[in-house]
Amino acid sequence: MNLDFTLYMPTRVLFGCGKLAELGTTPFLPGKKALIVIGASGAMRKHGYLKQVVQLLKKNGADSVVYDKIQPNPLVEHVEEGAKIARREKCDFVLGLGGGSTIDSAKSIAVMAKNPGRYWDYILSGSGKGKTPTKGALPIVAIPTTAGTGTEADPWTVITKTDTNEKIGWGNAFTFPTLSIVDPELMVSVPPSQTAYTGMDAFFHSVECYLAICNQPTSDHLALEAVSLITKYLPIAVKDGGNLEARTKLAWANTEAGMCESFSCCISHHSMEHALSAYFPNVPHGAGLTMLSVAYFSYLAERNPSRFPDLARAMGEKIDGLSKKDQAMAFITGLKKLIRRAGLKEHKLSEFGVQRSDLRKMAENSFHTMGKLFELTPIKLTVDDATAIYERAFQ
Ligand SMILES: [Zn+2]
Repeated sequence: MNLDFTLYMPTRVLFGCGKLAELGTTPFLPGKKALIVIGASGAMRKHGYLKQVVQLLKKNGADSVVYDKIQPNPLVEHVEEGAKIARREKCDFVLGLGGGSTIDSAKSIAVMAKNPGRYWDYILSGSGKGKTPTKGALPIVAIPTTAGTGTEADPWTVITKTDTNEKIGWGNAFTFPTLSIVDPELMVSVPPSQTAYTGMDAFFHSVECYLAICNQPTSDHLALEAVSLITKYLPIAVKDGGNLEARTKLAWANTEAGMCESFSCCISHHSMEHALSAYFPNVPHGAGLTMLSVAYFSYLAERNPSRFPDLARAMGEKIDGLSKKDQAMAFITGLKKLIRRAGLKEHKLSEFGVQRSDLRKMAENSFHTMGKLFELTPIKLTVDDATAIYERAFQ
């Protein structure tokens, strides 16, 4: 157990079925005019969530304007355009409504609404210029409608710059939401494949934060519980999206995983997925992680099995009496079962248009853009190792 750590998660989280209604009464609304950020898919309008949010804000004395261009794997252009609108409309907070890409965009827009220059001036890796956003950010409200990224309980925002093939996570003390409303009733409309991919994303956040060398006791507890809950309830929610008990357990597991990302950190599995979807933006984040996962975690478990048995046990695998190595590999068995039970397949990179000649380029990109996470990985990986892992996941 690592007893040398920092614990900081300043977000007020309102959690539970029907909690959205409290947007209309909460005394913790951080302003009088919101920029509401939603995705371009139209889902928030179709399901009536946007209308509800606008009305609840009004009830609570706040006006709003809507920015609705965010795509999955959100783009830097939309961050800068959203920030321009927030400034022009004199919004005093930003509200992200939707999946992780929308809330991440809301966070980045909140920073750019207050700071000069271009978004990439502030990014700390890749071709980012590493400047400090000295003016902080507008307050952020997060209302997730999927259980995937955990962004409602962490400071991270992942934005893509397409001209340089960079998909980079970034954040600071100002990019924690000040208020997050996690209402599982908003998640019953998520279709099965998106439920599966977002659930797997939350699963990997938990697993990676447990394995990271910066693990600590609070994130360990949260991560192991999230792994158990996702293993049990993800297959149920995929089969029966209207099962509110499963949706609620998954929403909580996802928020737990988000807190894990605040207290511990993801590892290079995420760097390698970001490189994959920087070059192949048609690959959803959760799908990319799932495709790489068996190859990646086997590679780690073979070389440093130490923390894997706890994860296998949390997944309900029977490991008593097995050797340490076999206990670690039981996690891989559990992972393969979960992928199947969530209705997914162990897809190969080659099925998504990746060529063998792309593998080394992606390995180099993963170090260039998200190299920090390699330093937190429990074994030392080189570009050669990352290429070898992509190779195992290739066909
Ligand atoms: Zn993720």
